[in-house]
Amino acid sequence: MQNNNTGTTTNDNFRFFGLGGSNEVGRSCHVIRYKGKTVMLDAGVHPAYRGMASLPFYDEIDLSTIDVLLISHFHLDHAASLPYVMQKTNFKGRVFMTHPTKAIYRWLLKDFVRVTSLSNNANSNIRTSNDDDNLYNDTDLVESFDRIETIDYHSTMDISGIKFTAYHAGHVLGAAMFQIEIAGLRILFTGDYSREVDRHLNSAEVPPFSTDVLIVESTFGTATHEPRITRERKLTSLIHNTVVKGGRVLLPVFALGRAQELLLILDEYWTQHSNDLGNGQVPIYYASNLARKCLNVFQTYINMMNDNIRKKFRDSKTNPFIFKNILYLKNIDDFQDFGPSVMLASPGMLQNGVSRDLLEKWCPEEKNLVLITGYSIEGTMAKFLMLQPDHIPSINNPDISVPRRCQVEEISFAAHVDFQENLDFIEQVGAGKIILVHGESNPMGRLKSALLSNFKNLKNTEKEVKVYNPRNCVLISLEFKGVKVAKAIGTLADEISSKLLTDEDIRKEDNDGIKTKKNENENENENENERVEDEENSSQGLAVSGILVSDEKTFDLNLVSLTDIREHHVDLKTTILKERQSVTLGCKKDLIYWHLLQMFGSVDVLIDDDNVTNIKETDLRENKVNGELEIMIMKSIKLHMVDSLATLEWVQSAINDTVADSVMAILLSVESSPASVKLSSHTHDHHHDHHHEEDQILLRIQQIANVFKEQFGDTFTLLMDKEEIGGSPKEDIKGLITINESMTAKINFTTLKVEECTSKPLKGRIESILKIGSDLVTPLC
Ligand SMILES: [Zn+2]
Repeated sequence: MQNNNTGTTTNDNFRFFGLGGSNEVGRSCHVIRYKGKTVMLDAGVHPAYRGMASLPFYDEIDLSTIDVLLISHFHLDHAASLPYVMQKTNFKGRVFMTHPTKAIYRWLLKDFVRVTSLSNNANSNIRTSNDDDNLYNDTDLVESFDRIETIDYHSTMDISGIKFTAYHAGHVLGAAMFQIEIAGLRILFTGDYSREVDRHLNSAEVPPFSTDVLIVESTFGTATHEPRITRERKLTSLIHNTVVKGGRVLLPVFALGRAQELLLILDEYWTQHSNDLGNGQVPIYYASNLARKCLNVFQTYINMMNDNIRKKFRDSKTNPFIFKNILYLKNIDDFQDFGPSVMLASPGMLQNGVSRDLLEKWCPEEKNLVLITGYSIEGTMAKFLMLQPDHIPSINNPDISVPRRCQVEEISFAAHVDFQENLDFIEQVGAGKIILVHGESNPMGRLKSALLSNFKNLKNTEKEVKVYNPRNCVLISLEFKGVKVAKAIGTLADEISSKLLTDEDIRKEDNDGIKTKKNENENENENENERVEDEENSSQGLAVSGILVSDEKTFDLNLVSLTDIREHHVDLKTTILKERQSVTLGCKKDLIYWHLLQMFGSVDVLIDDDNVTNIKETDLRENKVNGELEIMIMKSIKLHMVDSLATLEWVQSAINDTVADSVMAILLSVESSPASVKLSSHTHDHHHDHHHEEDQILLRIQQIANVFKEQFGDTFTLLMDKEEIGGSPKEDIKGLITINESMTAKINFTTLKVEECTSKPLKGRIESILKIGSDLVTPLC
């Protein structure tokens, strides 16, 4: 994203730079930048390549400039290079994904590391190559995992001026679209998305707020999906016909996600057609060593799926992902290949692993069937098979090729939008600029033409829609002139509104005041225009004067009269009348805190990284040196301590200066105080380790409680009093669930047992969540 490829662009332009997934499917990674803020979207690998070659073009940008990295969903082409970015580069931004994405990601990537190592070893024997294709190892995975933050659907984060909200994207469990707002400009990134209501997922939603730039997938270009019911019928009858003739069916699938949807379809069909299928004589296998773990995750997040499956769950009180007719194969060596069977096996694109081994074993026989249901990426075996080749290369023995006589069919259950679905969505979003990603060149090019022709009536109007289909590493720079809106606040606002009230039809904007508009440019962007129209009407022709204050963090522009400036812009005090003094500390932060408490009664804790202010005086422990502690004394003196540096800040006034002096005196004298000697001796006693362990337990309980909160919402209460947080729990920690009078339960979180429960199904459910919850919070390795 250097300026030199951009020619005339200025720093104020919105910029899009694709590092992967532009004019291709695979290694999705896009970087957007606006007003000095940089967001990366996805960090995938390309399934057709190995090792470093599978990465997005990370060398093309300075990864240390990324503020926030958002992962749309857990598929490898969107998420599998994340540990590489976090561990092997100078990236230092924050990473977000949804809860279910994070839960599944951990298992998938662990498996990804395992499979890559296995195929390395297998290949190094025959290729006599020592190339290490592993981009990272288990340790990298564990170390980066804890630093990944989660975001709930429909919640908004604000990371130093970058606001983003997650919306349902359909596609797979946990998949999210992100609407990002920087300085008033809204960008929507769809990730992979689906508008079809299927057996377990919600379809993608259109965010309620307008969007200026839409970054949208174009996987299927201008293609049209057959109706779902037709596809299901084709799928089941192809499989049925193959197995009754004694053939084997191979369904290469991605270990998780769409596989669950196929299992739901097949399990139902097998139950309905049990007689024709030899009453259980034809097994369906799901070969995945992740099956068990994923079952837990899928059950945990049932509340994030659609009404169908939630109803099924409520009615039967059993996990709809526990199938009657499906056998889990953790290890392919346990598989006895005697007669007809149906096998779902990963990886989905047959590059290596179990699905590839079975393909090579079964493809010479005519009666067998390979059924591709996912999207096949260019350069993979799955894509090659579509050409109905006579022979395929063997992965384990490159000297031979295997004859292909089996049937190969493709029926897509890939959960990407088709043209009509994509167009409807694009029209509803209504963005003026559309950037296409996640599509091979041809379908993407066709989609671009189709969109341009769809919007041709708007050409050369203010509402013209521009469509871009850049290649990887080609910068798109878009100018958004827009307008600046400044909010009048304080007495200035009162002044304006009283003037305006003399006009009948004036609407007051909000309690803060009313908005006035400062025109910067005649040629504004149309969306911006819409947004400020109301304000324009309400303040027409009124001239006001004040000081324009811009907030660097939020980009808010406030118009404020000089007399109010200190009241409304507290931060500005620093530049006006602030005093600041720093000293080096000779003692522990918790001691200082304790002394300040003795002196001033109570203080407000603003930051306390190491939780030193919550421990009791008698229990002062050795404190970590790296954490920050910031406290406000007498509502006016701010004391900030980090490492061994203490800084005092206050606004100058007679009283404040006196208080500051006494705080300073404490800072300088604590070292020599007898109390600190006495208290310091406690820091070396054996309680320290004990406390640490208890903290860990409390943290675990809190995490498991969060899973309950997600599952049961407000009907769940964790009984934990303040003393226990950071202190030592005297008794076991309990939780209550009260759904109604006849459905209540008491859970002991210390023993992870259900103590009382009025309903058997509820009890079963709680027990399984306790189990899942404890699995989810155990350290990865
Ligand atoms: Zn995907």
